[in-house]
Amino acid sequence: MLFLLLSLACAPSDDDSGAFDSGGIVVDDLAACLDADRYLSRLDDLAHLTIDGTGDRLATSEGHAQARAWARAELEALGWTVEERSFQWGIPLRTATNLVATSPGGSPERVVLVGAHLDTVRGAPGVNDNGTGVVAVIGLAEALTFAPEPATAQVQVILWDWEEAGVLGSQRFVQAMSDELAAATVAYVNVDMIGSPNGIRMILDDEDAEALSPGSAALAATAGGWLEDYGLPWEAYDLERNSDHIWFIDRGIPITSFWAGAGGEKSAAQADVYGGTADEPMDSCYHTACDDLGNVQTDFALQLTGAATHLVGELAYARLL
Ligand SMILES: [Zn+2]
Repeated sequence: MLFLLLSLACAPSDDDSGAFDSGGIVVDDLAACLDADRYLSRLDDLAHLTIDGTGDRLATSEGHAQARAWARAELEALGWTVEERSFQWGIPLRTATNLVATSPGGSPERVVLVGAHLDTVRGAPGVNDNGTGVVAVIGLAEALTFAPEPATAQVQVILWDWEEAGVLGSQRFVQAMSDELAAATVAYVNVDMIGSPNGIRMILDDEDAEALSPGSAALAATAGGWLEDYGLPWEAYDLERNSDHIWFIDRGIPITSFWAGAGGEKSAAQADVYGGTADEPMDSCYHTACDDLGNVQTDFALQLTGAATHLVGELAYARLL
């Protein structure tokens, strides 16, 4: 309901041009341009890519290649420029591939990076981990595309490969990042596992991140503030929970990340705040074969997608950092 109400600001115009009619509306909340139905249909599409919907997207596998082709088509349909960047690792050497999509407008002098890992562990369909994050960042790209006012910044949406064993895809990206791009990048926003069935709403907010990459705390405050505006509680988590955001600190780039919990148990206090079951894992299907379409709490996934999209909007329209 939240998104249905908000979506009015980004309703398509009546003509057949495909253009979206701003009616003079200024985008003061990019989350207003999210399409919740598309989020759910994309998650369904991604989950059913493999033959029986239970295959994995292990780095370097055929399942990963299929998912990459699907994601590429989704982003290209939005008018974004999509590039595959491969790297090699392992014995014997294997080739993995990040997908880097760049928004059609915006200044390369001001860049916002957004990412989610597309790969899974072996034998897990990875719908919560991390199909939920992948469709979040594609939906966020869609919101930017349909926003009635063009963003000031260039936005890059990156689907990482080989996160699950060594966080390699993002490491290679950061290592290869030019000084110009690093200097122009105002933030990296990560989305990883946001629909955990017994989860909680979490945003990375760590004083060490703020010390190393000043601005990180402002990212969490902005995203968390959006949730609070809707009466939705959230918790901070720290850098110990590793994902693709970790390397960006090496270049002094502000980071944050969205997460709904993995194999850790929910406390009684958390169950009081968020509902669900105390002393049970936040995602009992974490890294297993049951991480399928039945393993997603869609309310939390959409709410955290909204918070991430709002944050990226504030950055992309140069109202933050
Ligand atoms: Zn993950």
